[in-house]
This record gives sequence, C-alpha cells and structure tokens, in this order.
Amino acid sequence: MDLTVVEVANRCPLCGGALEIVEDRSYIWFGCRRCMRYVKREKRELARRYVDYASRRFDWRGLVSELYAVYLDGG
Ligand SMILES: [Zn+2]
Repeated sequence: MDLTVVEVANRCPLCGGALEIVEDRSYIWFGCRRCMRYVKREKRELARRYVDYASRRFDWRGLVSELYAVYLDGG
C-alpha cells in the first residue's frame, strides 16, 4: 500500500515525540509513532471542509489543528 507520511510541528503530550500525519487511500491518520496512538478521519470528509476548490487552496493549518485537538481529546 502506498502511504504518505508527514511529520507535523505538534508534539505528542504523552512522550514529547513529533506527531505525524499518515495518509492512505481513504483515511488521514494523525498520531504518534512511538505511542502507536492514532486518530483517523475520512479523507473525503476533511476535503469537504478544508479544501477550497474555488481558490484551489488547502487549509493545512486548520486540518492539523483539528486533528491535534481530536488527538488530545483521546480520539
Ligand atoms: Zn507519543
């Protein structure tokens, strides 16, 4: 399977490690490799909210802060 992994600036509150975003065919996973703790959201649903097709912009910051909040919240 072809996975895209991106490290983000946010840190894991549990271990202090860098958090990462992992993308597969249908989901975006957000979490910590060291803790093996991830939350996931459907790509389609995130795209609807964070991609502005008119101006061809992707609100990366908005996406990361939402996923980080979910992660802190425990998924
Ligand atoms: Zn961690």
